[in-house]
Amino acid sequence: MVSFNQPSITSLEKGYVEEALEQKKLCGDGVFTKKAGNLLKEKLQLSNVLLTTSCSHALDMSAILCDIQYGDEVIIPSYTFVSTANAFLLRGAKIVFCDINPKTMNMDANLLENLITNKTKAICVVHYAGVPCDMDTINAIAKKHDVFVVEDAAQAVGSYYKNIPCGRLSDFACYSFHETKNYVMGEGGAIVISDEEFFKKAEMIREKGTDRSQFFRGQVDKYTWRSIGSSYLPSEVLAAILCGQLERFDEIMNKRMTIWNAYHEAFEKLEKSKKIIRPCVPEYAKHNAHMYYLVLPNKLLRDKMLEYLKSQGIWAVFHYIPLHSSPMGLNMGYKAEDLPLTEEYAGRLLRLPMYADLSKEDMEKIIEGVKSFNEYA
Ligand SMILES: *Cc1c(COP(=O)(O)O)cnc(C)c1O
Repeated sequence: MVSFNQPSITSLEKGYVEEALEQKKLCGDGVFTKKAGNLLKEKLQLSNVLLTTSCSHALDMSAILCDIQYGDEVIIPSYTFVSTANAFLLRGAKIVFCDINPKTMNMDANLLENLITNKTKAICVVHYAGVPCDMDTINAIAKKHDVFVVEDAAQAVGSYYKNIPCGRLSDFACYSFHETKNYVMGEGGAIVISDEEFFKKAEMIREKGTDRSQFFRGQVDKYTWRSIGSSYLPSEVLAAILCGQLERFDEIMNKRMTIWNAYHEAFEKLEKSKKIIRPCVPEYAKHNAHMYYLVLPNKLLRDKMLEYLKSQGIWAVFHYIPLHSSPMGLNMGYKAEDLPLTEEYAGRLLRLPMYADLSKEDMEKIIEGVKSFNEYA
């Protein structure tokens, strides 16, 4: 079976983990945490970044930084991972779902203004498949209504919107280094914050609501409880893995891009004959080859193709049961038909295996599998 995903681990990561273990300082904020942070800053031209225990936790921190109060509204896409919603729900927010533009599967910025009320506190965008949202439009609307913008950039490390890296397009941005993402540390993430005051707050939230980080820099003479917070600082051992990955940033990106481009070229004819739709990357965007997906003419064919590929030894998957029509979403009072495009396209999308170490033979087998599916409409 060709696996769906597989992290790319070399002797570099292994060596760093050994070093991290040998230094006998395993908790966070040591040399590897700092090094990983600096590598990220350098690579993505960020001013401030904090490694976190996950992207979910970075989103939790963003919700705290937005100072969400009970009853505040937060607009997010329904076509996303559960953490985008949970982070704000945990602060007592009401989640308002925005439908997608099926071209990119991203939040449709043209629908946004209609969803804004005087209770709206934040908009959280998701750059699906590492293809950035229409950020100029979204940021202009946010500015006009004075609401925060948060980027769930879990999938968009190394993607660009008009030459600005994802993560620098909002007030607070969240990356993921989960095993399934482009750069991994097992479980982990980061939060990017350009504003100095919010950055100081974030440092405390990450350290259980204390000024421990300032204490270690010698900026305060004892550390104490200053705000709410939790334990969002990853271990040095995990940061060590990420250091290796970030030193291999371009290598991993190039390998993924080669596969993405090969898929894209191989399926051009299928798209021309209207059997599938390929991912669309808008003019303004540079993607990071996080994901390759196909959109089938209907859900029945999508499900049949998943089954067919499995019979060929290829592990392809669907993505996201929309949040609004999940059991939790229905409990919140949403109905499937409230977001018709999300509902429809989520049922038609199929993801192909995509990882840096996918062999050429396996890739060719996958391409052949898709081409030989003989039930196309
Ligand atoms: C992976 C992912 C997350 C969660 O990331 P973790 O680091 O596992 O918490 C959140 N949002 C999106 C869009 C994701 O793809």
